Amino acid sequence: MSRKLNFSAGPCAIPLEVLEEMQSNMSDYQGNGISLVEVSHRHKFYDDVHNEAISLFKELMNIPDNYSILFLGGGATLAFSMIPMNFLTPGKTADYVNSGTWAKKAIDDAKKIGKVNVVFDGKEGAYSSLPAVSELSASPDSAYFHFTSNETIGGIQWKEWPELGDIPVICDMSSDIMSREIDVSKFAMIYGGVQKNLGPAGAAFMIIRNDLLERSPDTLTAYLNYKIHADKGSMYNTPPVFTIWGVKLFLEWVKRNGGVPAMSALADKKSKMIYDLIDSGDFYRSPVDSAFRSTMNLVFRLPSEELEAKFVKEASANGMMFLKGHRSVGGCRASLYNGVPVSAVETLVDFMKDFSVKNG
Ligand SMILES: *Cc1c(COP(=O)(O)O)cnc(C)c1O
Repeated sequence: MSRKLNFSAGPCAIPLEVLEEMQSNMSDYQGNGISLVEVSHRHKFYDDVHNEAISLFKELMNIPDNYSILFLGGGATLAFSMIPMNFLTPGKTADYVNSGTWAKKAIDDAKKIGKVNVVFDGKEGAYSSLPAVSELSASPDSAYFHFTSNETIGGIQWKEWPELGDIPVICDMSSDIMSREIDVSKFAMIYGGVQKNLGPAGAAFMIIRNDLLERSPDTLTAYLNYKIHADKGSMYNTPPVFTIWGVKLFLEWVKRNGGVPAMSALADKKSKMIYDLIDSGDFYRSPVDSAFRSTMNLVFRLPSEELEAKFVKEASANGMMFLKGHRSVGGCRASLYNGVPVSAVETLVDFMKDFSVKNG
């Protein structure tokens, strides 16, 4: 079997070792004659997986002890509503940065729950840039400040973090989690879907500072209440066991391969290979501010839409999949998540060079 090279924006490329480990244990988990996905989530098999996934998260990201880690269903999308439901206390304002498609969805949901102030709106600039962190400020009655570390569709990424004193900073890190080293203590909450950089689809991760959980109102129904999930060690109800098993194996792979510092170096290296090629001529063009270009989702244009369609088609015929940009922005996009090996990027760079020579 020859595996395709997967440049999908999500669900993501998963290292072959991880897929094979899942496959070989699928019907007979570690030689116990039964599958992990057919036992109770209270069974020791699953309990170990659950706790190991959480402790690997803590270890790989150096998460301080005063944070809870949850894996919940509903994706990052459910968090767009749960965050204001839990943390936007009545009479206060939630500050949001509108940096693109995902930030906008978070804002639209928050507006249905309470008062929202949009601190920066990238709409006029076609979401091609981000504000300088020194220009950011929050409302005087701010409940929290929300932003999206990497816009998966637009291809822009924050390079510095907002510093807002005591105001809780909440970040959607769906598409660059564990691709860069971060100081978790600068954030009150970090969350995202796991399917971009950490494993198969089906769960979202939340890293929440415990003092924030005291805000969760008792009036919320159980599943919507982050504090209930945290108090129960993210086992209030049946967790997405298959996905969390995949995340655990993916995190073990990250650890074996040098942890987050190594993933970060790889992300820089892989994205530089493509950006250097884009910058070296005028066939390919990056539509975003070079100061904020994403290392995860690389958006680029060709001289015409016809050539873009041809590029995507020929790449796919050559085993390089999913290079079409999101339908809302067009163009091309290569997603270089942690599971994408350098060799795949080398193959893509060679193809891009060749394509530009033949069609330039
Ligand atoms: C994919 C994505 C989401 C949505 O995640 P779901 O798990 O599908 O709900 C939210 N934010 C960002 C930045 C994303 O890339």
